[in-house]
Amino acid sequence: MVRVRFAPSPTGPLHIGGVRTALYNYLFARQQGGKMILRIEDTDQTRFVPGAEQYIIEALDWLGIKFDEGVHIGGPFGPYRQSDRKPLYRQYADQLIADGWAYYAFDKPEALDAKRKEYEAQKKTFQYDCTTRQQMENSLALGDEETRRRIDAGEPYVVRFKFPDNIDITVHDLIRGDVTMNSRLLDDKVLFKSDGMPTYHLANIVDDHLMEITHVIRGEEWLPSAPLHVMLYKAFGWEAPQFAHLPLLLKPEGNGKLSKRDGDRLGFPVFPLEWHDPKSGEVSSGYREQGYLPQAVVNMLALMGWNPGTEQELMSMDELIKLFNIGHISKNGAKFNLDKAKWFQHEYFQMLGDEQVAAYLEAQMKEHGVEAQHEYVVKVAGMMKERITFPKELWDTCCYFFVAPTEYDPAAVKKRWKAGMTTHMAKVIEILNTVPFEYDAIHQALLEDYIKGNELNMGSVMNSLRLAVVGRTVGPDMLTLVMMLGKEETIRRVQRAIDTIGEIDN
Ligand code: GLU
Repeated sequence: MVRVRFAPSPTGPLHIGGVRTALYNYLFARQQGGKMILRIEDTDQTRFVPGAEQYIIEALDWLGIKFDEGVHIGGPFGPYRQSDRKPLYRQYADQLIADGWAYYAFDKPEALDAKRKEYEAQKKTFQYDCTTRQQMENSLALGDEETRRRIDAGEPYVVRFKFPDNIDITVHDLIRGDVTMNSRLLDDKVLFKSDGMPTYHLANIVDDHLMEITHVIRGEEWLPSAPLHVMLYKAFGWEAPQFAHLPLLLKPEGNGKLSKRDGDRLGFPVFPLEWHDPKSGEVSSGYREQGYLPQAVVNMLALMGWNPGTEQELMSMDELIKLFNIGHISKNGAKFNLDKAKWFQHEYFQMLGDEQVAAYLEAQMKEHGVEAQHEYVVKVAGMMKERITFPKELWDTCCYFFVAPTEYDPAAVKKRWKAGMTTHMAKVIEILNTVPFEYDAIHQALLEDYIKGNELNMGSVMNSLRLAVVGRTVGPDMLTLVMMLGKEETIRRVQRAIDTIGEIDN
């Protein structure tokens, strides 16, 4: 039975890269008929940010990434928040010490700092490892008696992992193949802290084991920790899960990890939901608040680092679940592409029903104090949605269907409203008043008989009519718009333009 977990630390808003990790875990779990677990890794209390856990839950819920067990829904392997599991970890640290896989270290932060400086002065980097541990204040260097004395005297200590000297440790990664590292390159990581809490490494391994996790799918930034994790499984005598380290999400230019600052710089969110920093009060934009549809974000993220092996780009969550395949995850980082994000959003916006689009539009009309018949709004929505990427564009794109312009784009006036235009516009009114109010009849009378028949400039007259009706030279097919607005309203608008712009020598 496949069991995967998403294990964020509540240190702030969930980065979009974290969302992708959750998504890949979800797709894999669903496809394999397995279970998806949400575990909160909050052992580092100094980095705890209030509201972050709630944010993570809300963001994943918005995106349709669902869990079978977790901090918010419980389950048979709970509790799912590491701070609630605190009493559980100590015994595992003790077990490692008893078995010679870990040791007590009493080094004060100042002593460690001094050591680092001493190395820096010689242009070297200090690492607490098999080559240096004998010079430090730990149970290996001090001996059992002194160690016991210090512990009994209440001296604070941490527990460190004792890497065997000079062995090769291989991580079997489902994406990268075998990744081997020599233990000389690895430091004796702290497993248990003086505050009585395990570190990420110990808690993560213990919980993955106890929660019977079969696959660890996580960001590439954890690959350097993987040899330690493999060794910890070995030290405990537990079977390790399979690992898959996902490629980084890169800046649009491709050099380096996508950061919050890139989003601010280039105008796209790097967080799923808007985040209000509880300390600084700073607000970071979110995909949801920008008007992105969750399906669009999911589809875009799914393809950042994975492809189905075909050219297919648009895939619903169900299709993604069917097609997802760890073997098709790329080793290389995936560049963020804002145009692509917008393309997905536009595509998914087009899939909305006219009623759904109308609902967005009606909400915006309300804000502008404008009312209209629901059927009319639905018709406008259906007609205009292809021009829309984000719901917030609806009002500006469609407002002239509901309110007559009072101003006319001066550049367009200058370009289109040529001498004699008031006469032509008066003719438009006359045609509308005399011919049957039908598309074809108006087309024949205005475009064929009047404009072409008199060899007038089609662009100039029709764009002036547009200017009169819309206020700008944008919008759908002109006569379709006239049919939508109706005879009276169109005439009123044309008359107003004649009165307002008047005859100008252009
Ligand atoms: N708590 C770690 C994080 O914040 C989890 C890493 C892992 O999945 O092992 O990303």
